[in-house]
Amino acid sequence: MPTDSDCIFCKIVNKQIPAREVYRDAGVIAIEDINPQAPVHVLVIPVEHGRNLHDFAALAGPERLGALLHRAGEIGRTLGPGGYRVVMNEGSDGGQTVSHLHAHVLAGRPMGWPPFAP
Ligand code: 5GP
Ligand code: ZN
Repeated sequence: MPTDSDCIFCKIVNKQIPAREVYRDAGVIAIEDINPQAPVHVLVIPVEHGRNLHDFAALAGPERLGALLHRAGEIGRTLGPGGYRVVMNEGSDGGQTVSHLHAHVLAGRPMGWPPFAP
């Protein structure tokens, strides 16, 4: 499985760094965000290292990308019965800080829209 030895999410997938895991299967893990922005803030992370949507789809194929979103929806439905938001930040303008594809699932409070500049 493609892994980047310098990547913090690869290390979490491989259990070299601890995390509060809420889900794991052969393709994805889900963990609680270390710096939660809502009462529920879960990261859904593919086990394979791809930097972004394009790289991950090229590496693993659209079905695996679909599985990531499917899992985000299942977690959102379970942990956010009042509704939830799925966010994927990409690149510097997108606000991405960890270069391993992941989806944020946020719930437990009303979300604002649109996202404003910091
Ligand atoms: P991004 O900014 O790339 O969209 O999201 C990265 C997320 O990963 C941030 O919300 C950040 O709090 C979270 N994060 C960074 N390092 C760790 C870590 O070591 N453990 C956990 N659980 N979350 C992390
Ligand atoms: Zn990685």
